[in-house]
Amino acid sequence: MERLDKLLASTGMWTRREVKELVRQGRVTVNGEVALRPERKYDPSDAVQVDGERVACGGFTYLMLHKPKGVLTATEDARQTTVLDLLPPQYRRAGLAPVGRLDKDTTGLLLLTDDGALAHRLLAPKSHVDKVYLARIDGTADARDVRAFAEGMTLASGETCMSAVLEPMGEGACRVTLREGKYHQVKRMLAARGKPVLELHRVSMGPLRLDPALGAGQWRPLTAEEVRALGAG
Ligand code: URA
Repeated sequence: MERLDKLLASTGMWTRREVKELVRQGRVTVNGEVALRPERKYDPSDAVQVDGERVACGGFTYLMLHKPKGVLTATEDARQTTVLDLLPPQYRRAGLAPVGRLDKDTTGLLLLTDDGALAHRLLAPKSHVDKVYLARIDGTADARDVRAFAEGMTLASGETCMSAVLEPMGEGACRVTLREGKYHQVKRMLAARGKPVLELHRVSMGPLRLDPALGAGQWRPLTAEEVRALGAG
């Protein structure tokens, strides 16, 4: 059991003084009831909400973001909007970082967390976490492209890629599944086949699928089930 102000401050999203103010304003509920005293003790597994949003106290934070175009996958940048800028201020202070990187013009699923061990595990090629992308391409993927992806391609730079899955989806579109994440990898693999990428969108990462209810720029915390499926929490 821990004091409510300590539990909420432990997330890094608010100071103890800010928590007291939130409680005073009636913005904090525990197990569905408005919390009246910041010093009252609760269990970290109690359902604490601030402004109606569940806050994971005493644990890590996991968010799913539908990354829009034109936003940098970075925690801060002097000039350009970053994915962290799309979150409410309390999350910007919580030490969250994106897991992996999507190019500025790539859209789709991005996981943000302060669970560094999970991030490391998800990104290690030997963890075999599939990342699935939908690409709009200039050209049409064919059986030879599928074979080249499966065999493990060598890029123009001389870098070799692990075996990947290319699924043609008719004229000008395909789905690509990668187990690693080299710089601009999907774009460079398709460019090497003479089918440059026009638009790229990530739909999943391991068991985590982009929630179709999230529009570009929108985010939500992962559900307990999603956190469990990632082997975290
Ligand atoms: N591959 C790319 O080329 N770009 C991305 O953003 C992700 C994978």
